[in-house]
Amino acid sequence: MEERTTSLALLLIGPGTLLVFGIGFLWAWSIERRRHYLLVLTLACMLFVFGALTQIFYLPADTGLNAIISNLFYTSAVIAASEGLLMRSGKSMGVLADLTALAIFSVLIWYFFYIDRNLLARVYIQNFGFGLILLATSMRLTHLAQARTVDRLLFWILLAFAIHFFPRTLFTLGTAAPVGAKAFGQSIFWHALQLSLAVLGSGLALAILAAAVTDVIDGLRLERDVDPLTGVLNRRGFEDAYDRVIRRSDFPIVLILCDIDHFKRVNDTFGHSAGDDVLRTFGAILQRTAGKRDIVGRIGGEEFAIVIPEADEAPEFTSRLRRAIDAASFPLPDIAPAVTASFGVAVREDGEGREELFKRADAALYAAKNAGRNRVAFSFDESSGVDCC
Ligand code: GH3
Ligand code: MG
Ligand code: MG
Repeated sequence: MEERTTSLALLLIGPGTLLVFGIGFLWAWSIERRRHYLLVLTLACMLFVFGALTQIFYLPADTGLNAIISNLFYTSAVIAASEGLLMRSGKSMGVLADLTALAIFSVLIWYFFYIDRNLLARVYIQNFGFGLILLATSMRLTHLAQARTVDRLLFWILLAFAIHFFPRTLFTLGTAAPVGAKAFGQSIFWHALQLSLAVLGSGLALAILAAAVTDVIDGLRLERDVDPLTGVLNRRGFEDAYDRVIRRSDFPIVLILCDIDHFKRVNDTFGHSAGDDVLRTFGAILQRTAGKRDIVGRIGGEEFAIVIPEADEAPEFTSRLRRAIDAASFPLPDIAPAVTASFGVAVREDGEGREELFKRADAALYAAKNAGRNRVAFSFDESSGVDCC
């Protein structure tokens, strides 16, 4: 009796672990509900749990029916896991392919139970079939191998998990299945299966959960740091990015403050939503003109800031920016005056703090405004001397 309780407890470890992962995916989804793939992964875990419980508690208590139903759960779990992973990358095998796979598996299991009873065939079908589904999934996710560490880890564990189904089945089962449920439960195949699921399966589930949590955290960080109107960084995001650049390197970076001229008139003449459209277009121009290493942020109503890492390039960069603004077509009526902006530029002195640098760039911007707008002013030293226009 005690022995049976112990072995039951051991059998429940697998579905118990999957249940915990399922709850983990559900929790991640509850934080950011637009990530629907997390629900699909939750479903995959639950389907696996149901499959295991069907087998462990022998429900329904008919061997054939039990084999077919548990197979249905397991196959659906593998397909759902595959679809969840693909959905995360905006891909899918398609409902038709999924249902076809499910139907083929079910018919084969039914055939090798009721027509030509063959346990060996059923085991090979399940293991090779699952291996193939997961292999096809990893082949469609090869881009992850070049992505973030957490994605790379996920890709390689998925690939290893997919491949392992083939040698494990071949080497532990060979060409003859153990006869009888007891012998099957004590076979090398069964133990190797449990071990591989516990190690590789849990490793895979952990890697997926880590990737999912990273997605959610990145999403929340993006929401916190990005200005929803223009898509560039907001003040907080800009300052964080600035601090990161300063921490990483000590090259003489340049801060460019940029303020749209007479923007209030745009709002007053054409309405607030026309003003919003101008801001959106303006943000897009800055983003397009800036390089990969540059930081672009909207730090106030119609005030933007850019950090570029090369001091020598500042004059060329601001000229390019002004040409882009000049050439852009803003969504305003033809009678509207051209949209222009004024710029204040300051090169960071050695050891200079963020606040001081901002103050100098701001003084330069103020000088550009005072000198008539639509121009660039440079702050040339820490005493806020401005070389204007
Ligand atoms: P200056 O050339 O001196 O910079 O003049 P200005 O009119 O551009 O500057 P001012 O600071 O007087 O006005 C800025 C205006 O920007 C006032 C405010 O209503 C508007 N504004 C701030 N945020 C937004 C926004 O998100 N959308 C819109 N449409 N307008 C905004
Ligand atoms: Mg302005
Ligand atoms: Mg302003």
